[in-house]
Amino acid sequence: MSYHGYVHCNCYQTGKVADPPCKEFFRFDVGGMYLKIPSELYESDRERAFAMEREFTAWLDHSCEHHGMVICNEWLFDSSGCDLFYTCLGEKGREKNFPVLHKYLPRVNDGILPASMAKAALQELAALEKECTVRERVILAEKETGEQIASTLSGIPLFLMQANHHCFFLDADGVMVVPSENWYEPKKEILFCSRHFIQGQNFPGKHPFTDVKTGRSIQCTNNLYPLRGIPETDHELIVYLEPDYDPGHVAILALKRLAEASLTTGNPIHWG
Ligand SMILES: [Zn+2]
Repeated sequence: MSYHGYVHCNCYQTGKVADPPCKEFFRFDVGGMYLKIPSELYESDRERAFAMEREFTAWLDHSCEHHGMVICNEWLFDSSGCDLFYTCLGEKGREKNFPVLHKYLPRVNDGILPASMAKAALQELAALEKECTVRERVILAEKETGEQIASTLSGIPLFLMQANHHCFFLDADGVMVVPSENWYEPKKEILFCSRHFIQGQNFPGKHPFTDVKTGRSIQCTNNLYPLRGIPETDHELIVYLEPDYDPGHVAILALKRLAEASLTTGNPIHWG
């Protein structure tokens, strides 16, 4: 089982869209926006009932810029992630610190968090987020295309490649080129290190790596990019850091986006 939440836009309530077809059967409640067609109508005029369903779906999907009149739709966690999240929330003494989250977060795939609780939920989520430890992920990418070549967690140098005389590693300082005999101890002697450099293409088996800022360069026999094959031109490579969120943190960020949408629209968060 997986859990997600969504918030309807307020285009209908604010009069930005026409009334729904078959308005007498239109409902907007804990079940979201839907048409409640009486079962007698399905029995007496099946075709008409199905036509009403189609008209309503078309209204929902195409009346405004928000598909299905949903302004925010977020996947939260699967069953095991849900258990972990509640274990974290349920640690001793925390229930009184996060009363809104305790009361309104989904335990089954239905129900709502009322819009009136969105602000308090946001405050609790901000407090919960402060407790999360965020690691950093180091990413090596080709600048022009953004294609990621390799990534590692900050503080753990990643072995990239062995060349004739050199080894390549990636860590938060950048791509490091070290003597191949030092592969087991990459920081012992660093011949080249850069977070922004040009991988040159002279001819196969001869690649100068040049730091963009300092102009420092080293000649290597192997290329880092493309991963397979020989480059046909120079490539600009960059190393950057971004937060590495654990699944609990990802759920908190998604819940924050839902609560913000609820606060903005005045509509509840529906769990589904
Ligand atoms: Zn809308």
